[in-house]
Amino acid sequence: MMNTAVQPMVLVIDDDDPTRMMATEFLTQAGFDVTDFDSGKAALDELEQRAPDVIVLDVEMPEMDGFTVCKRIRACAGYETTPILMLTGLNNSDSIDLAFEAGATDFATKPINWSLLCHRLRYMLRAWQAAQDLANNQRSLAAAQRIAQMGNWQLTVGSDEMVWSEQLYVILGLQAENVTTSLSTFLQTVCAKERPLVGDWMEDAQNQVMDVTSVDFCVVQNGGVERYVRQQVEQVLDSEGGIVSLNGVVQDFTEKREAERRIEQLAYYDNVTALPNRTLFQERLDDAIQRAERDNCCAAVLYVDIDDFKMVNDTLGHASGNLMLNEIARRITHCVEDATTCLARIGADEFTILLPGLEDSSHAIRTANLVIQKLAQPYALNGSEIFSSCSVGIAMFPEHGTCSESMLKNAGVAMSDAKRSGKNLYRMHDFSLDEEAQKRFRIESQMRVGLERDEFQVFFQPQIDLESGKLYSAEALIRWISPELGFVSPADFIHIAEDNGFIVPLGEWVLKTSCLQAVEWIQSGFPITQVAVNISVLQFIRADFTKTVQRILDETGLEPAHLELEITESLLASDTDLAVETLRKLKEIGVQLSIDDFGTGYSSLSQLKHFPIDRLKLDQSFVQGVTTSDEDAAITKAVIAMTNSMQVKLLAEGVETKDQLEFLKLCHCNEIQGYFISKPMPADVLTEEIGEIMSRLEGLFDGQGNLRLAA
Ligand code: C2E
Ligand code: MG
Ligand code: MG
Repeated sequence: MMNTAVQPMVLVIDDDDPTRMMATEFLTQAGFDVTDFDSGKAALDELEQRAPDVIVLDVEMPEMDGFTVCKRIRACAGYETTPILMLTGLNNSDSIDLAFEAGATDFATKPINWSLLCHRLRYMLRAWQAAQDLANNQRSLAAAQRIAQMGNWQLTVGSDEMVWSEQLYVILGLQAENVTTSLSTFLQTVCAKERPLVGDWMEDAQNQVMDVTSVDFCVVQNGGVERYVRQQVEQVLDSEGGIVSLNGVVQDFTEKREAERRIEQLAYYDNVTALPNRTLFQERLDDAIQRAERDNCCAAVLYVDIDDFKMVNDTLGHASGNLMLNEIARRITHCVEDATTCLARIGADEFTILLPGLEDSSHAIRTANLVIQKLAQPYALNGSEIFSSCSVGIAMFPEHGTCSESMLKNAGVAMSDAKRSGKNLYRMHDFSLDEEAQKRFRIESQMRVGLERDEFQVFFQPQIDLESGKLYSAEALIRWISPELGFVSPADFIHIAEDNGFIVPLGEWVLKTSCLQAVEWIQSGFPITQVAVNISVLQFIRADFTKTVQRILDETGLEPAHLELEITESLLASDTDLAVETLRKLKEIGVQLSIDDFGTGYSSLSQLKHFPIDRLKLDQSFVQGVTTSDEDAAITKAVIAMTNSMQVKLLAEGVETKDQLEFLKLCHCNEIQGYFISKPMPADVLTEEIGEIMSRLEGLFDGQGNLRLAA
């Protein structure tokens, strides 16, 4: 930028030597740095090397006249606005017009009054600098408006005409050349719904001093694109306080609004089903409770949990799981189409329904039954048909809770009760359930730390081969002695560990501990050389289960044939193809497989033919009835006969008396396990007591495995 305060550079172009000399003399004295050329061509050749602040140019020159030179200078980059003063010899208006047309800034006629000319040049420079500053300011204002997505306008009160900034055109989606900048054009861009309101607002702004000086509205650009803007207006008043004009600023906050909307979506809605989440549900529930208090009516919360959803997710993958959740959301929505209800997804497979303004619980019960019925219908997922069910818990306001937290908690407790009662049904909350829920909560929170703190232990219960009358294996049964909860039965914590997935690391720990124990027994020549380990369905259906088994065998060095995995019948009923495939892989590894608690599930013996298993474990509920119930005796005999024909061994669980043992031996049952021979005990206790157990067996069986009659 030029520095007028120091020494402005002036270029003098004139063919007349005396004029150039005079110019140099006067201008140098006046503080200019002077360079002179005797022809336009010479000057044009040098222009690129120079950066003059002002040019003095003679009109009448041979070869190329001053008008042409001026035009050429203007065409050079960087010389578009440089002040050019033309020296005309002729005092006629034609050449003055020509000078301006050629791009001159000003003119002076010869003969020249040099001292006057010096002042003139200074003024020209100052005016040029001011124009330059203004242009810079306008540019930076336009840039700032562009960055801030902000435009501005001025309106004189009473007139329709407005002045718009560049950015305002952009915001309104208009092109400067196609529009007249008027208030009516401006209002035309406001969306139809808000136009009257904004029109009135602008009218008021011109007529009365306003308190509220901003208004938000939506602008519809050509092509229908919507932009959300905030307009702020300043009223300019005259000395009497009358409004003379308005200055308005229009800011486009579409992106900010969109971001806010997305934040709200994330904060209040579930991203899989787009249903409200727990936070929003709780807010709606609080409102409903307040209204119910005021109107003296009831409200209900239904807590819907999908039965065994984890299995769907684990076997079919998360994508299918999400598809199923969306279908579930759709079905529940159809059950509760009343606009006052709120359906939310508050957990992985947990949905809640709010039914406000009820007279009693009958509508809640009807809805629960409808949801249960709709969710039990088959789901088409990735070409296969999946069956599912749900358990529903109901809590009523004010009976079961008076705030959103207690209502949700108690509906959840009732849902857990529905699960325990067999699933696929609903339960109304009942305060006696609270104790149960508290116990469950304590177990759940202590379980994980329990494994880290070594509170779990594996007990072993010997298994006897009835043909030889000898010990051959032991079932590994987990025990938990918690410092806070005391002894916790596996019946109380296994299903909780299955619900929250903790069974996976826990089961792996049992498997490893048991394999290590078997290796120790084998190496020390102990009479028991095999372990049977219970495997949860949740472990079994994991894609990496066979690998885990193989890894543990490798790590512990146990021969696969010395390990038996006990799985439950329910597994075979759920997904036959997957079960057969996994069982086949496990057989390839070389481990033994048994079906535990046989007779309590739904599988039939004929179904079992498809599974490569070595042993059935007849559930103790049948075994304990063999000597007292004809039915149990008949079932036991039939199962023994069929397993014998299928080349599958039968182990009878829970043998507690000698009569039971005799019955089983007589029917050719292969193996037994039960308190009559030994209770489950820690490995070290078993080592101490093994002699006693063996002598008891010797008292019962002779060397050939026959029962001693007199024993
Ligand atoms: P289960 O696999 O059927 O184990 C047999 C259960 O019967 C054991 O109960 C055992 O102590 C008990 N029992 C053995 N003999 C007799 C008898 O003569 N009379 C009576 N009344 N009961 C007898 P426990 O140890 O309480 O285990 C209960 C269930 O917990 C097991 O049933 C099994 O399903 C599960 N479980 C135990 N440990 C594990 C484990 O490490 N992993 C998994 N997934 N489940 C386990
Ligand atoms: Mg078992
Ligand atoms: Mg069992």
